Amino acid sequence: MGLLQVVEAQNGQEAIEQYMRHSHDLDLILIDVQMPQMNGFEAVKAIRDIQEEEKQEWFPIIFLSASANDNDVEQGIGAGGDDYLIKPISQKILVAKMLAMKRIVDMRRRLVDMNEKLEKVASTDFLTGASNRRAFESVLESEMSSIEENSNGLAFAIFDLDKFKAINDTYGHAAGDEVLVEVVDRVKKSLRDVDVIGRLGGEEFGIILPNINEVEAFDAFERCRYVINEKPILYEKMAISLTTSIGFTVYKGGKETKMDLMKYADAALYKAKGAGRNKVVEY
Ligand code: GH3
Ligand code: MG
Ligand code: MG
Repeated sequence: MGLLQVVEAQNGQEAIEQYMRHSHDLDLILIDVQMPQMNGFEAVKAIRDIQEEEKQEWFPIIFLSASANDNDVEQGIGAGGDDYLIKPISQKILVAKMLAMKRIVDMRRRLVDMNEKLEKVASTDFLTGASNRRAFESVLESEMSSIEENSNGLAFAIFDLDKFKAINDTYGHAAGDEVLVEVVDRVKKSLRDVDVIGRLGGEEFGIILPNINEVEAFDAFERCRYVINEKPILYEKMAISLTTSIGFTVYKGGKETKMDLMKYADAALYKAKGAGRNKVVEY
């Protein structure tokens, strides 16, 4: 089982305190039932409550008790214990039971990791690595609902690459794909960590800038427009230049819906296209 580091507590109350101190690197709790001040059942109930409230990772708890009473076993599992062992207990059985719990911990860890990976895949555009439309719209919704009164606004933009069909026609579809990848890369680099870029479809993307005012938003989108056009994109010895048109709107916590913001940004984008492309236009 390897080397284990042990933290001790003399009673239930102390167990809770030790748990709070060490909750981040805790693998297993072994706990008695009969103890002064606070018994094991109460302590485990409290620990499981804190664990749930703080959204901490699950870890196993094993009761060790002199009482082999059916009701006590029932109560122990009910309180949040995962096993209930009767004292006296041999070293061998205790180690075996701990190993069995560790196996469950490892299995659960793998499931959690796999779920995170799946979640990532399910929310990412395969080609560009931007958020896909579903994930992007859900971020937009949650950012809109969490906006605070009198705070900065939330900027939402739609940008669409200019004359992209011509790029495909001139350089080929694979080159077009590479351009989409590079565009997302450049835009991501010019944004803050809290900003989100999503692919709405084809060569059309959305950007969310939380907590920003109109002037800053305009500057940020202007920078996006600039980095896309700044240097040609290189693909198989071809140098591909392109521009983009951007329409945006700033939401300040009014009654508009997600669909309204999409409509506004799209209308501004349409204006940018009509005004000769390669422009940022606010709704
Ligand atoms: P505009 O300036 O008005 O936006 O002109 P445009 O040519 O960009 O607009 P249009 O909608 O006519 O063309 C978009 C093109 O984007 C057509 C489509 O083949 C191409 N496209 C969409 N998705 C992809 C993709 O994943 N890869 C590649 N290579 N091309 C794509
Ligand atoms: Mg286009
Ligand atoms: Mg388009």
